[in-house]
Amino acid sequence: MTEKSSAAPRPQLFTNVRIFDGTGTAPVPGEVLVEGNRIRAVATKGNSIQREGHDIVDGGGNTLMPGLTEAHAHVTYTNMVRLKEMGQIPPEEHMLIAAENAKLLLDSGFASIYSAASSKPRTEIVLRNFINSGRLPGPRMKAACPEIVATGGLGDENQLHMAHQGIEIVCDGVEPIRKLVRTMIREGVDVIKLNISGDNFVRPGFGRQCSYTDAEVAAAAEEAHSRGAWLSCHARADGAVRMALKHRFRVIYHCDFIEGETFDLLEAAKDRVFLAPAIGIIYTTAYEAQAWGITPEIAASMEQQSMVEGCTRVYGELFKRGLRILPGGDYGFAWNPMGKNARDLEHFVNIIGLTPAQALMTATKWGGQIMGMGGELGLIKEGFLADLLIVEGDPTQDIRLMQDRDKLLVIMKDGVYHKWPDAVQRPASGNKQGTMRAVWDLVGTSL
Ligand SMILES: [Zn+2]
Repeated sequence: MTEKSSAAPRPQLFTNVRIFDGTGTAPVPGEVLVEGNRIRAVATKGNSIQREGHDIVDGGGNTLMPGLTEAHAHVTYTNMVRLKEMGQIPPEEHMLIAAENAKLLLDSGFASIYSAASSKPRTEIVLRNFINSGRLPGPRMKAACPEIVATGGLGDENQLHMAHQGIEIVCDGVEPIRKLVRTMIREGVDVIKLNISGDNFVRPGFGRQCSYTDAEVAAAAEEAHSRGAWLSCHARADGAVRMALKHRFRVIYHCDFIEGETFDLLEAAKDRVFLAPAIGIIYTTAYEAQAWGITPEIAASMEQQSMVEGCTRVYGELFKRGLRILPGGDYGFAWNPMGKNARDLEHFVNIIGLTPAQALMTATKWGGQIMGMGGELGLIKEGFLADLLIVEGDPTQDIRLMQDRDKLLVIMKDGVYHKWPDAVQRPASGNKQGTMRAVWDLVGTSL
């Protein structure tokens, strides 16, 4: 792999591949032509694309598929044990860690990430801008603000005798929330993240309770909607999911404790909401966190094992009802480390009961949709953006292949190789240093 991404000089023709197009149907033999940043042609059923003027990349019979989307990404997470560790990292180091994580996610096949909150207010905004301008390697990003939490809510790490900062901005009351949402949108976030419910990480049973009032949630929603920002929420409690639906949140995370009519309300909103259970973190907290002091008994007091089992019930039913459920599992804790994100696909198969092809569809076709680019991202289809992977073997037969970075033979984002095929001559990398003008464009300030 090269250190620096750069555009391929000529159209790239991928031959001898089995194409998983992202819709969930079985891979078929075929060829794919990429020109510029778009897929120009797809040939299947024994048809071929003319060779002249193209670099030919023989895929060796392996699987060509769309790049993955991570729907609950925390690119600022540092594989920490406690949230307050995040607050102790100065902004400068934190920025660089986020840049490292962004590259790691692209190395892992994630060409898009939808943030479920930054740890510091501007980190993701800056990272997104630098990636988009081609200065840093990383996925397409929807950048979020820190977790907006009520006093005592998930992420409020303060003690009465001592202030702490973790991953959050603590904010209570209608008017302060309005101002905070306005401020974050001014700074450039795509996504406002609100922790509407509590969480059993804070104390047993808190995941079933709301930590914001309806009036506070309504205020955040009104400000976000009126300014065109997207809304995401942490909502484990039934009442929190109902509030999110009422106030037209676009992404609802977790939904563990929903009951009865809430299933119907979600189904009625299935064309406008996206869900992500974030199984990764509860699975590893339940079964793999003993070395960090989370014994099975402690995990049980936080209901982690029963929440994993609950995902089978809740998400099995919601998938059947047509809800768009995406992978993304709070990767970035010590026992659920960054870069293992594709493990959520295996959880979708083992815990929710999807087929591997369905699981891959959630991360590709629906991935393009959660990024707001469903008409041009997430499928191997003529005219779509060229975010693609070549995976050694067939992940629709063995979903675990997606977790092995060595099996990702080629990674392309926006028509640009991040991981080059051996067959293609790499151009000498040019000097990409920008001008002062370009720097000001990144900062978003006019001279
Ligand atoms: Zn999260």
